Amino acid sequence: MSRQISSAAEIDTWLRDGGLVVTASERAARSLTLAFHRARRAGGLSAWPAPNIQDWQTFVRSAWNERSFDGRFVLNALQEQSLWAGIAAAGGQTAALLEGPRHRLAALAMDAHSLLCAYSPKLLKQSARSGWDSDAAAFSAWLTVFEDACRSGNMVSAARLPLELINVLEAETAARPPLLLAGFDRILHTQRKLFDVWGSRREAPIGEPAPEIQFHSTGDPATELAACADWCMRHLTVNANARLLVVTQDASQRRGEIEREFLRSVPIELSRPSAANLFEFSLGVPLNQVALARSAGLVLRWLAGSIEEHELDWLFSTGHTAADADESRALTALMRALRRRGLQRTRWTLAEFLRQTPYGQLPDGWVARMKQAQRSLDDFSRSPQSPLAWAELVPKLLERAGWPGGRPLVSAEFQAHRRWQQTVDLSAGLGFEGRRMNWREYLAALDRTVSETLYAPESQDAPILIAGPAESAGLFADAIWFLGASEDAWPASGSTHPLLPLAVQREARMPHASAQVDWDVAAALTRRLLASAPEIHFSYARQTDGVDARPSRLVTQLAGAAQPLASEFFAQPVSDPLAVPFFDASRVPFPAGTALGGSSILTAQSQCGFKAFATARLGAQDWEPAEAGLTASERGLLLHEVLHSIWAGPPDGIRTHHELVALIESNDLASFVERHVVRAQQKKMPARAGEQMPQQYLDLERERLRELVTEWLQYESARVPFTVVETELDTNISIDGLALDLRLDRVDRLNDETLLVVDYKTGDVSPRAWDLPRPDDIQLPLYAGFAIAPDAGAVGGLVFAKIRAGDRKEFAGRVTNACSTLKSDLHRSSGLVRNPLAREDLARWRRYIEQMARNFLSGRADVDPREYPETCERCGLQAICRIQENQPLSDADEGDTGEEAVDG
Ligand code: SF4
Repeated sequence: MSRQISSAAEIDTWLRDGGLVVTASERAARSLTLAFHRARRAGGLSAWPAPNIQDWQTFVRSAWNERSFDGRFVLNALQEQSLWAGIAAAGGQTAALLEGPRHRLAALAMDAHSLLCAYSPKLLKQSARSGWDSDAAAFSAWLTVFEDACRSGNMVSAARLPLELINVLEAETAARPPLLLAGFDRILHTQRKLFDVWGSRREAPIGEPAPEIQFHSTGDPATELAACADWCMRHLTVNANARLLVVTQDASQRRGEIEREFLRSVPIELSRPSAANLFEFSLGVPLNQVALARSAGLVLRWLAGSIEEHELDWLFSTGHTAADADESRALTALMRALRRRGLQRTRWTLAEFLRQTPYGQLPDGWVARMKQAQRSLDDFSRSPQSPLAWAELVPKLLERAGWPGGRPLVSAEFQAHRRWQQTVDLSAGLGFEGRRMNWREYLAALDRTVSETLYAPESQDAPILIAGPAESAGLFADAIWFLGASEDAWPASGSTHPLLPLAVQREARMPHASAQVDWDVAAALTRRLLASAPEIHFSYARQTDGVDARPSRLVTQLAGAAQPLASEFFAQPVSDPLAVPFFDASRVPFPAGTALGGSSILTAQSQCGFKAFATARLGAQDWEPAEAGLTASERGLLLHEVLHSIWAGPPDGIRTHHELVALIESNDLASFVERHVVRAQQKKMPARAGEQMPQQYLDLERERLRELVTEWLQYESARVPFTVVETELDTNISIDGLALDLRLDRVDRLNDETLLVVDYKTGDVSPRAWDLPRPDDIQLPLYAGFAIAPDAGAVGGLVFAKIRAGDRKEFAGRVTNACSTLKSDLHRSSGLVRNPLAREDLARWRRYIEQMARNFLSGRADVDPREYPETCERCGLQAICRIQENQPLSDADEGDTGEEAVDG
């Protein structure tokens, strides 16, 4: 029997004999408890006494509760932080003026106090800190106030409890049970003193290092993780009851990546009933990242204030305010309807949201619940309340608002619900000083508490446990893999505490006080790991984010030099995948009728068949994020309106180049433009901008528009004479049976009687987008080929009018004789001169567009981006077409010119 096994066996024997085990961490206590129960079950028992295992904090707390009769109450973390925050604010520190920094400062002070209690309690005496200066002196002064406040308030902090317990134990004569200590890589000064005073105790032996230790080097972190995940699955395939421990230092940052890799590597024989049950993380996530708790926080904020639009989207998507699926659908449908009408806002109050009913039907039940919850809060908020009163109100408010929704909660949600309620209960303790607060203050305190509370669903005793190095203390396994054993990462380095003098930290050997301290702590932890399983693997990546890394010297000393990963560790392709690719070549023809979307449908068809299908037939669209002021498209609409108003002809507008020149020569251009800008703003300015933005903003917008339009008209005044024949022309066309509604910005008649199709653009555009064989944009070729009546005249050109603030104002496009019909001063290097429009161009575009219309009508919806990934980056439908999951297909299709689409 190896010493590693004998160590675990010794703990088991101790527990079976009714002994008390104290572990370094809660995780270790849980792990030993589970191991104890497993051993009893394996021994064929159906009932047995519970083991007596306590983590350090629980041990101190219960020993104190059994012996303390002086009536002092122990501050919880929230109460202690609140006390420190008050002291820091009263100390006049600039950083303590604002609520957020004040509480961060309080957390730092609380941490510094805990360090002193654990490592150097002699410095809790004020006289011992007399030489401290700068920030340390400020902290020292706060500490004196804190100690006084605790004394006068008959309170004690949790960090100070072991010291108080030592005093009580020293005065006690009764015998105490012997202790077995497990998982203490380092026994701190105060812990040692307490154990000494306690009496009989010993540490579980660490044991001999594992007989099989390997140190691997891999090319990059992804390969390293894949090899580890694959190794775990191979172990479980051989022995389904194996216990595996994966130790990683960045489990919280890489959690998603780790989860994906482990799920990917699960072979089918292990995937039932659920692949996710094969592994679990020892460390939880902040409670505010858990959907149930986050939704509760948003509802509470919304009842008395505004929340951001994306938060509202998210809240509705969870269904946590909806009584049933119909309510949930109605809420999300209203959000869609608002966006379609351009009524999006950056933030929404409940009252503003309820006023949007003309644009969609809000469920009556939902409206009644939210109003009732809001009224309850309004009634209660008239005066400051104690935190206890607020904490009692919160569950009632949420219940009235319908939270957490009508859907039954699954187990993990039920646990999150319980954790949320515990956190609310904890917040009631903020009234320990008789404090009263308003709703906003209470909510801020609750938010902070929720974000600082870690939540992990109850352990399912999964065979693979993923833990950080410190949390692995006291754990045993059949095999261990330690990821990230590079020189930079292990021993782990960190910064010293900013509120304690460096010399004090060094002398007391506080965390990260010196490289030697880091080394010693890491060495103790590594040695313990080596004796915690019969098979140990360390690994590191030779390169991370393009930076070379070296193997950890510590691990090299203990495990030998790192060797390139042997071939058997390379991730094996997973056999029999659960998802089987299926190429769907079926087509659903477009039913007769007008397709919504105008020219953009055929532009989308050219860019990617699926994009056209999803946008025109499924109504999928990428939302434009709300802005406090005007969005880019709203600015574009205003510009269009001004130019339409100007070129609309008499009585207020003009129609010809001649009239424009006359306006300039009579110095009337400025007032002329001003009039049209004001009119356009009155007509088209979104009500939201008028409500939310100050008058100065609207004035600036008017000024910007006036300058932009004036510059453009100056440019047009230098054109060869022309006449505007149409502006904002609405027309309906049919291409091979596909009916489209179009609106042309402008059509000019040039001096050779041909027509120029003009499209105003405020973005970055180029006529290269029209290039065959697969254009990125077919809007103007479509207008030129299909929207101009044959008897109106021949098309002499199609151009973008580039009217972009800060850029040169100019035409860009294709014109038959640009120098003689458009601008006589064009340079020969100009694109308008170099690429004249030929009749054949119009014919080729026409054939291509007809083919796109036929493709759309026949239901051709291939996921086939014109240029991957650029086309997709501008598209926003990746979540629907799942192109990223089909990367090999998109790679294979690169270079597809679209010829097939034209001829097919
Ligand atoms: S993201 Fe790419 S592949 Fe998907 S619909 Fe858009 S253009 Fe097509």
